[in-house]
Amino acid sequence: MIRKDRHGEGAPAGHEIKGDAMKRINFTSVLVMGIILFVNVHCVIAKDSPPRLILQITVDGLRGDLPGRYLDRYGKGGFRYLFDKGIVYTNAHYQHSNLETVVGHAILATGAFPAASGMVANVWMNRETGELGYAVEDSSYEMVGAVGGVDKDTEIDPTQAAAKSEGRSPRAMLCSTFSDELDVHTAGRAKIFGVSVKDRGAITLAGHAGKAFWFSKKTGEFVSSTFYYDQYPKWVTEWNKKRLADSYAGKSWELLHDPSSYIYKDSDDRPYETALPGYGRVFPHPFGKKDSKLFYTLLTLSPVGDDLTLDFAKSLIKNEKLGEDAVTDYLSVSFSSTDYVNHVFGPAGLEQEDNILRLDRTLADLFKFVDENVGLKNTLIVLSADHGIPEAPEYMAERGMAVDRLVPSKFDVEPGIAALKKRFGIGKELVKMYAHPYIYLNHQLIRKQGLDIGEVERAVAEEIMKFDGIALAISSMDIKNGQLPEAPVIENIRRNFHPKRSGDIYVLQEPYWFLYTDESLPLCSMHGTPWRYDTYVPIMFAGKNIRARRVSRLVHPVDIVSTLAAYIDAKPPSGAAGHPLHEVTKW
Ligand SMILES: [Zn+2]
Repeated sequence: MIRKDRHGEGAPAGHEIKGDAMKRINFTSVLVMGIILFVNVHCVIAKDSPPRLILQITVDGLRGDLPGRYLDRYGKGGFRYLFDKGIVYTNAHYQHSNLETVVGHAILATGAFPAASGMVANVWMNRETGELGYAVEDSSYEMVGAVGGVDKDTEIDPTQAAAKSEGRSPRAMLCSTFSDELDVHTAGRAKIFGVSVKDRGAITLAGHAGKAFWFSKKTGEFVSSTFYYDQYPKWVTEWNKKRLADSYAGKSWELLHDPSSYIYKDSDDRPYETALPGYGRVFPHPFGKKDSKLFYTLLTLSPVGDDLTLDFAKSLIKNEKLGEDAVTDYLSVSFSSTDYVNHVFGPAGLEQEDNILRLDRTLADLFKFVDENVGLKNTLIVLSADHGIPEAPEYMAERGMAVDRLVPSKFDVEPGIAALKKRFGIGKELVKMYAHPYIYLNHQLIRKQGLDIGEVERAVAEEIMKFDGIALAISSMDIKNGQLPEAPVIENIRRNFHPKRSGDIYVLQEPYWFLYTDESLPLCSMHGTPWRYDTYVPIMFAGKNIRARRVSRLVHPVDIVSTLAAYIDAKPPSGAAGHPLHEVTKW
């Protein structure tokens, strides 16, 4: 290598100084380099030792603005710990189009878009059987001990009710998760767990290599499937024997504070809230007797669901000895209550205000427990949400927006579609089903008539576009062929498209319009669109090596697993589409 000396003449590097001077400089250089190296290695070891525990918290349905709305009334150690000591991303948005629970959780787990992970919706139609299936059901497995499955008579969650089999697994998720990569990175030594009231909230993040537990609304216990265990660890059996859920029998969900201190104190009784039998629209909300039909379900529609999750997670940390040695362990805790309260009472109301004030206490309790058992300085915490939520359409109508509720069962019988059926010579149902966010057409009939599926898809999409409240209807053939209109959310729709699982026509309602598969369930509010209220979520990091900072640049939930992987020098999950967040990975 030739470089210019100070006289401008080319000379081989290091040849300008000779003799004793050279020796002195060399000795000094070696000494200085040695010190630098020692200090560097020492610092790198001190700073780079991996965290003993990565705690990934998901608050189901926690829209990005909700944690900040009640900031002045939080206690110590919960949200205040995250806001005061953490890195808070205030402008985080999802980039896919179907903002549903399993989809969001799968993105938080894999960093992959649904197009790669295959997790396009909570439920999708199996083309071979023509039946609707649930994303985490798996008939190759069953519940451990064959108890704790879904009770079809009392299950009001339509996604759970769509399951045809009792067994559960993450097998439908086609990409690896961060937890899978941690397992590889640590040669199988990391302990990996996922816990949630919802099975899909636990299974996705535990990944293929970890173990998942969720709450059974049939038995009031935390349960798992034979994909994970042949029989329960002793501590799980003992935890279930406590019958903690039963201790809420005869009790009610009551306000935590004096009613006058709530900003929604005058918004308790609104006609568009869901009034479940016995539970009602106003405080207090009674859970009923232990043997009443909806007892365990009602617990999950209140902050109690999170309390139970917390208690089980604490027991897990202690009994599985998480964070006890130098190998990084992983625990995902997905709190489901915020989502259920959104659906039943809406995000702008007294119930959700109280739920978030209680969630703050739940987080404080969890962080305190982790600090005592693992140390927050040895733990990396990340908190986010799987999707946001709109206010109820009636709530926005009260504010002057011309919004309403759509009825998807009308898709097949509206005059425009009826005329199409006549044109194509199809007498029976052309629209086989609407399973959010896709319309599935009757392929058998279309083939029988010798029609071109793409042509029929396009014709139906054109008719659906004429409906009031429909913003877009796009045929899958056009998505496959890249023949997409100019529209602000078109990339989100493409990222959600999986050729084997997505339906024939993607349907999107106008902002704040209500559109959901199950019309028999009169929910107050429903997420599932790429509009900003559904894509907006918090991302907060706290714990080991994190310095308080507020970041307003646009970031995405796909960045989370890339950040976690970079933080511990592991490779990112197989379909990860994000970038490491430098505020977290550089210190
Ligand atoms: Zn959700």
